[in-house]
Amino acid sequence: MEKLSWGMVGGGEGSQIGPAHRMGAQADGNFAFVAGALDADADKGRAYAQTLGIAADRAYGDWREMLAGETQREDRIDLVTVATPNATHFEITKAFLEAGFNVLCEKPMTMTVEEGEEIVRVAEASGRVCAVNYCYSAYPMVRQMRAMVADGELGKIRLVVANFSHGHHADAADADNPRVRWRYDPAMAGVSGQMADCGIHALHLASFITGDEVKTLSADFASTIPSRVLEDDAMVNFRTEGGIVGRLWTSTVAIGRQHGLDIQVYGETGGLRWASEQPNQVYYQKLGGRMEIMEKGEAGLFDEAQRLSRVAIAHPEGFPLAVANIYVDLAAAIRGQAKGDFPTPSDGLRSMAAVHAAVASAKAEGAWTDARPPMFR
Ligand code: NAD
Repeated sequence: MEKLSWGMVGGGEGSQIGPAHRMGAQADGNFAFVAGALDADADKGRAYAQTLGIAADRAYGDWREMLAGETQREDRIDLVTVATPNATHFEITKAFLEAGFNVLCEKPMTMTVEEGEEIVRVAEASGRVCAVNYCYSAYPMVRQMRAMVADGELGKIRLVVANFSHGHHADAADADNPRVRWRYDPAMAGVSGQMADCGIHALHLASFITGDEVKTLSADFASTIPSRVLEDDAMVNFRTEGGIVGRLWTSTVAIGRQHGLDIQVYGETGGLRWASEQPNQVYYQKLGGRMEIMEKGEAGLFDEAQRLSRVAIAHPEGFPLAVANIYVDLAAAIRGQAKGDFPTPSDGLRSMAAVHAAVASAKAEGAWTDARPPMFR
C-alpha cells in the first residue's frame, strides 16, 4: 500500500516530543515524512528538516509558509502534526483544518474553552480527521483496562484515582532557570501550570478507561515554591456524569517520582491499576480473589489490546510505539478503512474546560464547579 505523506510543525532539533512523533508516524510504514516547519528559528528549522531527509522545497521556515506551500501542491501532505508550544496550537490547528488538512494536535489543544469549542466546530465542518495526542490512552494495556471495564469485569465503577506527579521541578535553586520558569508564568503558560501540562493526561485516562466524562470538580492548587505564580501541585476531586468518584493528584515537586503517571480503577467486583513506567503490566484483583498480573502480549487479552502490540511478550514497546498507535488509527481513518480509535477534539475541549474549572474552583477555596464545556452541558 502506498504511504501517506506527513508533515510536522514544531518538534525541531532538541525538542522533547519531536522524536517520538517521527518514530511514531514512521514505525508502521504508514507515513512518509515529507514536509516540516520544525523550529521557531526559520533557518534552524529548514536546515534540520533537510538533515532528516526532507527536500529543500518542503523544508519550510514557518508554519504559514508551509500551509501556503502545501496547499498549492497536488501531492500535499495527508496529515500534519502540530507539536509547537501550547499557545500556538489553536491558530495552527484551525488554519490547517480550514485549508482541508487532517491534523494531529499536541495537548493541550487550546488555551481557552472558547478556542476549544471553535476547534470542535471547525473540525466537524471540515470533515477532516482531527486528533489530540493523549498518547497514554494508546498503550495496549490501557486499552485492555478500558475493554475490561466496558465488558463489566469490574462491575459498576465506584472510584478512579489518577496521578501524574513527578519531582523534576522540585529544586528551588533552579526555579529561575528560563526553561523551568515559563511553565509557572501566566504570560507564557496561561491560567494553569501543572494541571494543564500533565494533570490533563491523567484526567483523560480516567475518562477514557471508565467511558465516563468529568462533570464537576473541586480543586486545591499550591505553588510550593513561592516565586511561582501558577501551581506546581494540585489535588482535584471530581465526579463523573455517571457518578464515579474521582481523585487526581498532579505535581512537579514530588522528589523521587520520575514520570509518575498511574491510574487505579475500582468497581463493585474488582480493581485494576497501571503505571506508565511499567506499561506492560496491569494488576487486577476480583472481589474475594487473588492478585493477577496481566502481561502485554499474553493470551486471552482483548483484541483491542492485542492489535496494538507488535513485539513479543515481555519485550518493552514503550512511549514512541504508544504514539505510533495513534498514527496507526489515524492512517486507517485517513484512508477511509476505519473510523479510527484516537482522542478527538471533544477530548481536547473537555480537558480545557476541566482546567479552567479547576482554576476557578481553586480560587474559590475548592468550591464544586461545573467542569463540562458549555457546548456539552
Ligand atoms: P520543546 O520546547 O522541547 O520543543 C518545541 C519545538 O517547537 C522546538 O523545536 C521549537 O523551536 C519549535 N517551535 C516553537 N515555536 C514554533 C513555531 N511557531 N513554529 C514552528 N516550530 C516552533 O517542547 P516539547 O516539550 O517538545 O512540547 C511541544 C508540545 O508537545 C507542547 O504542547 C507539549 O505540551 C506537548 N507534549 C506532549 C507530550 C505528550 O505526552 N503527548 C509530551 C511532551 C510534550
